Parts: sequence; C-alpha cells; structure tokens
Amino acid sequence: MPDTVLSIRDLRVYFNIRAGTVRAVDGVDLDIAEGEKLGLVGESGSGKTTTALAIMRMIKPPGEIAGGTVKLDGRDLISLSEPEMRSVRGNDVAMVPQAAMNALNPVRRIRSQMLDGLRDHGINESRERSQERLNTLMAQVGLNSSVLNLFPHELSGGMKQRVTIAMAISHKPRLILADEPTSALDVVVQRQVMETLEDVRSEIGAAVILVGHDMGLMAQFADRIGVMYAGKLVELATVQQIFANPRHPYTRLLISSLPDTAGKRRLQGIPGLPPSLLAVPPGCPFMPRCPEAMDICGEEVPQLVGDPDLVSCHLHTEAVAA
Ligand code: SF4
Repeated sequence: MPDTVLSIRDLRVYFNIRAGTVRAVDGVDLDIAEGEKLGLVGESGSGKTTTALAIMRMIKPPGEIAGGTVKLDGRDLISLSEPEMRSVRGNDVAMVPQAAMNALNPVRRIRSQMLDGLRDHGINESRERSQERLNTLMAQVGLNSSVLNLFPHELSGGMKQRVTIAMAISHKPRLILADEPTSALDVVVQRQVMETLEDVRSEIGAAVILVGHDMGLMAQFADRIGVMYAGKLVELATVQQIFANPRHPYTRLLISSLPDTAGKRRLQGIPGLPPSLLAVPPGCPFMPRCPEAMDICGEEVPQLVGDPDLVSCHLHTEAVAA
C-alpha cells in the first residue's frame, strides 16, 4: 500500500463579501497516495479550483481558509509561516496553470524564466550545469532545447503548456496540481499534453490532482475521481467504479452528459443551476435538481460514507451503513 502524501481534513474556504459568506469549500476530506492521479470534477463554482488553491495557500482576500488541515507528508501546510510556505510551493507542491500564456512573462525568453524559477528555489549553479538541467527538462516534456531561446508568443499553446509542465517538475515535487491544463487546447494537442504530464509524473513519482470538468479526459488520466458539488465532495471512487456504477445522482448526470461514441445513449443535460453558495438550501444541496430526491433529502445533509469508495446521498446511506 503506497503511503499517503496528502491528507486534507475538514477544509473550509470562505469568501466574506458584503452580501454574506460564500462557502466555496465547505468541509472537504481527501487522502491522496504517493504517485496517485486524482481527478477533481464538478461544474464551475463547485469548489474544485478553490480546493487546489487552498492546498497551495494561494487564496486571496476576501477569501480565507476558515478551517481544517492540509497535511503534506504529515506536515500541516495551513500552520506554516509564509516564508516556509514559499519554499513548499514549487519544491514540494507545484502547479500547472490553466492559462499557460498568463503564467509566462511575455517579454522574457523561456530560458530566463526557467532560470529564475530554479534560483527562486535555491538552485544556484554554474552556467554549464544549469544549461544541462534546462536541456534535460525540455527533453522530458518533448521540446527541443532551442525553445529556450524563444519568447512565449513564438510558441504554440501546446508548447507553452509543456514549458509550464517543465517548470512544475524542475524541483521534482511530491504533488502536482494541474488546473484544467488543456482547456485552451484542441483535442489532439490536449492528448499530447496529457501524455507528457503522465510521462513526467511517472518519471518523478509525483502524485497529481487534475482539476477539470471533462469526464472523458478524467477517464483517460485518473486513478480515482472526486466529484464536487456546492463546495463539498459528493462522490469519490476509482475511475472504473465511477463509470461502471456511479452512485450519486449528480455523478450519473455528469456521465450522461458525455457524448456516447456508439450513439446508443441519448445525450442528457443537467437540469437547473447549482445553488448560491451564499445561501445553500437545507438538506442535500443537489435536491432542487435531483431526479431521485426524497422527503428526507430536504431535511438532512447526507454524510460522505463508504469504504473505500465514498458517496454522500440518502439513497446509499442505509445500504452502506448496513
Ligand atoms: Fe438526490 Fe437525495 Fe441523494 Fe441528494 S440525497 S442526491 S437529493 S437522492
């Protein structure tokens, strides 16, 4: 059994705005094993990106981490000082951002930006040694070292995303957070970038949290999938279990909204909208949209239960307890 690299307990991230408190992440528990690939899915505003940002302690005001623990190899990141946390970012946990163009400085060559990244994390070495290191990183992500001489605008979207992957792995982090890394790319390039991410991940043995809403992409990449809704984790299971036997009605609808290449299944949308996180209704937050809702659903919040696969839905509460 691989060791647990990341352990999150009761993580809460709130945004205090004039209209009230937005509970963007509200009591998330999650364990990730060494080298595991976890997909975090959900609609916009479900809390998946906020969870990833909270792991990096990159929540900006008016947001705040209102409670909980985020332990990386047993060390609680929430209680670290900002200088300690700066050393964790990049060294132990790295992020592959959604918009590679915004993550790269448009007026500096890739080489300078990568060297800055190395120096920021304490790697000061000879010119020859750093050149060798950058060449190796470029080769790892399938890029020619001549790319180091270019400016970001001279690269295609896929090349830029590979550069951000090279930057993310330069310190061999224990955990990589990839926030919709291929959302701006066409399907063929998407696949190539995901293959690159998988190759480098297995080379350095890092765990990955892939944040996104594309269940198809998750099916190809992840070992387990966590489904988020209204700031909570509502189902967490292996990819096989999620696709063969999704238990939460929301997960079932997410899968039904995937195109079926055999053309046998009718494409189904998800009716309604997620609740306002300023005023989540009592009981199950999915109730207003749930085709299987029962009376109890409006009264009691279902708990996340099961072992090892987890679900929070009254349809399963009794069965799992029994
Ligand atoms: Fe639907 Fe009830 Fe399950 Fe919520 S608890 S998902 S409303 S059946």
